[in-house]
Amino acid sequence: MLEKIAFYTFGCRLNQAETAIIEQSFEGKEYQVVDYRESPDVVVVNTCTVTENGDADTRRLVNKIRRINPDVKIALVGCQAQVQKETLLELPNVNWVVGNERKMEMAEILHETRDSGPQLITPTIRKKSFTVPFIGYDDKHTRANLKVQDGCDFFCAFCEIPYARGRARSREYDDIIKEATHLSIAGHHELILTGINIGTYDYNGLSLVDVLDGLEGLEDLWRIRISSIEPTTIAEAVVTKMREDTKLCRYLHIPIQAGSDPVLTAMKRKYSVKEFVDFLMFAHKAVPEACLGTDVIVGFPGETDEMFEETYNLLLDLPFAYFHVFSYSDRDHAKSSKFDPALKIPKQTIAERSRRLRELSQRKRKVYHQQFLGETEKVLFERQKNGRWSGVTDTYIRVIVDSEENLENRLLPVKLMQIENQAVLGELL
Ligand code: SF4
Repeated sequence: MLEKIAFYTFGCRLNQAETAIIEQSFEGKEYQVVDYRESPDVVVVNTCTVTENGDADTRRLVNKIRRINPDVKIALVGCQAQVQKETLLELPNVNWVVGNERKMEMAEILHETRDSGPQLITPTIRKKSFTVPFIGYDDKHTRANLKVQDGCDFFCAFCEIPYARGRARSREYDDIIKEATHLSIAGHHELILTGINIGTYDYNGLSLVDVLDGLEGLEDLWRIRISSIEPTTIAEAVVTKMREDTKLCRYLHIPIQAGSDPVLTAMKRKYSVKEFVDFLMFAHKAVPEACLGTDVIVGFPGETDEMFEETYNLLLDLPFAYFHVFSYSDRDHAKSSKFDPALKIPKQTIAERSRRLRELSQRKRKVYHQQFLGETEKVLFERQKNGRWSGVTDTYIRVIVDSEENLENRLLPVKLMQIENQAVLGELL
């Protein structure tokens, strides 16, 4: 009988893209893929270490999986595995801890070491361009992630990604186009370009704009979305493409992290508030209807009330449609974890600042949605829930319509009518 295997992903889109590829590598092997709640024999967990919550989530999941099947063998792979090696191997039922350099080889590793004792496989991550061995078909999602880049050379003070993911490196151009071709022919008509610092893409002199140009030519690809991109790395040509009628979604997620210069300096970010604002307003003026989103960290060591208010007021004024709010937490390898303890911000203060920003983000999303009411936008439909179909516009507005028809994976014009929570109700035309 086939052994049952399950996959679970924490963290970012890049992790999701990679889990899809790892899962594909088990196709045709001695495993049957099941949900982790269906008592699998082996579970591969692609971990995240961006905050201390991410770390705690891994432990909680390990306990949950053990309760379902006390004999399960667990593989913890990815970022947390790379930086917390031995600690993770001590968790019960964990038989493999595999870092980012070799996690794509999980199928072979399992095949070779299935009956061996605990395995710690976390070699140093090499800085060289790469290919991806399988096509990341994702039958759970309409839109698929496409990995184009990995790692980062920026070393922001709060971040341990350069340790967990290694230095910046780019995927070979032809390999990107090959996977995108297969994914789009298979019905993934929107691809989301993912990586750690994708604006720094550089493969033999080819840039992210060249990748966009190459993808533009794929017949079955309708939409290309850039996931998150560092503020200092966005070529003006990217904005120009959004303005012209190309396949590139009118959407930019640009992490600001703080809206106060002393905090940005302490974070070792590569821009001042003014430089960020100048670029954002350039993009906003060029494509006024584009969805602009950002990430912000609350409670970075030394962030005074005044500095936080600066950030709050800036985010209030800027034409953002939403923001993701992260509560600061020390990461072992990050420089800020070594800052003077006197600079630490109390947890309650962080919680209150986060609450205010999250509430502001919800208000801003509504304001952003309002400008589209009465307009017609194309919606790529994804799923049906409670008899209603839901999908997204290229500007990342979640749209819900009533329809008896099967709308899955169809790109249809919808008149946007009314705001409902963080989505918009529409009528099919
Ligand atoms: S740009 Fe900064 S925050 Fe982003 S991954 Fe690199 S080091 Fe981390």
